[in-house]
Amino acid sequence: MKKDDIINLVEEVASKEDIATYLVGGCVRDEILGIENKDIDITIEGDAKKIAKSLSKRVGVKIKKTSQFGTFILFVSGFRIDIATARKETYPGPGKLPLVEPGSIVEDLSRRDFTINSMAIPVGITTIIDPFQGLKDIKKGLIRTLHGKSFIEDPTRIFRALRFAKRLDFQIEQITESLIDDAIKQRVLLTISPARIRNELSLCLKEMKKWNILERIAQLGIFEQLGMVYPNRNFFEELDEFATKLGIKKEPLYFMALTDGCHNRKILTGRERRYLNAVETLLEKIPLLKKSKGKGELYTILQGFSPHPLAYIGVKEGVKDKISTYLEEIEPIKLEITGEDIKDLGISEGKLVGEILLKVKWEKLDGRLPTRKEELEYAKSIITNNQLKIFNHRGHRDKETM
Ligand code: ATP
Ligand code: MG
Repeated sequence: MKKDDIINLVEEVASKEDIATYLVGGCVRDEILGIENKDIDITIEGDAKKIAKSLSKRVGVKIKKTSQFGTFILFVSGFRIDIATARKETYPGPGKLPLVEPGSIVEDLSRRDFTINSMAIPVGITTIIDPFQGLKDIKKGLIRTLHGKSFIEDPTRIFRALRFAKRLDFQIEQITESLIDDAIKQRVLLTISPARIRNELSLCLKEMKKWNILERIAQLGIFEQLGMVYPNRNFFEELDEFATKLGIKKEPLYFMALTDGCHNRKILTGRERRYLNAVETLLEKIPLLKKSKGKGELYTILQGFSPHPLAYIGVKEGVKDKISTYLEEIEPIKLEITGEDIKDLGISEGKLVGEILLKVKWEKLDGRLPTRKEELEYAKSIITNNQLKIFNHRGHRDKETM
């Protein structure tokens, strides 16, 4: 289905139910700007559920989920349709989520963030509802807030302003800019939860011009205020490039960089926190890593660490080559024998089993043990020649056993 077909269906459903239905927000903005947008935001003066249900029947798609504010979401032909009841909002306090009650379309537009996002088009009608002169601001290329308390009421709008400004190559209008400065000075960002900060930063990091956005956030002193750091653009770009090469997710690396060495790690996921702990352990191994020669040594030093902390220290410590070798040429080579096979050979002590497997792996990395049979033979030979304790404590091959 094309976008127009979907909107025609919405119109049909709305006129049948006789409910005032509008396209709103980002979807109107992008339509005017001629930017492709896969989101269709619909606001209803009345019961959104009714329209959502009728539409879901017409397109033969189930309502996927409903957000905390009673929004109904349908996914149709790659489009995401959000259907919400028009609402009026009041803010109980800075950073708190708003109290919500049903309202008119103009009330709904009045609770929005910027003039360019506060327009509506009634479906089936071509006139635009534009109470805040959003059209004019689109022409001027301006991000302008609707009122003076906007950033105090919802500090996430600070990130949104920076995001839209860079994405659309718009200027932040002067008064809006000074309202942002004031809000930052009043430390309003500290009133919102780490989860919401995380979400906003994640959205910034999904933008094409993410590095410009991050730089602006840093310039405004936001990272510092949040107990985070901004290393520099080069570092991010290098992380980005290395993650692409290794084929690993980028977001954890970005967030590690933004919190490395900081006390505030609340915006991290549990996994990212573990990654950063692993980075600390890995840092102690850097001198050894830099001196290491050959695949066996690399394996001994780096085994057990996951790709993200490894990629991170690769960039941070300038050891990308060693990390690539490990992740691309060493880690994927798996032994065909396991600890069970060694136990079957009569070795029961776990530590010895580990040492034997390590020695077999070294040999395999040198390309000498192509099959399971040869691995097993080699393990046997270690045991019969009593070549245990083959590694000294620094992970080097012990000369006497070579
Ligand atoms: P994007 O292209 O990034 O999706 P968008 O403008 O569609 O941009 P959404 O986050 O999808 O942004 O939100 C849809 C609409 O909801 C916005 O256009 C705006 O009108 C309103 N909105 C979203 N977040 C806020 C907010 N924090 N404060 C006020 N209005 C908001
Ligand atoms: Mg959107």
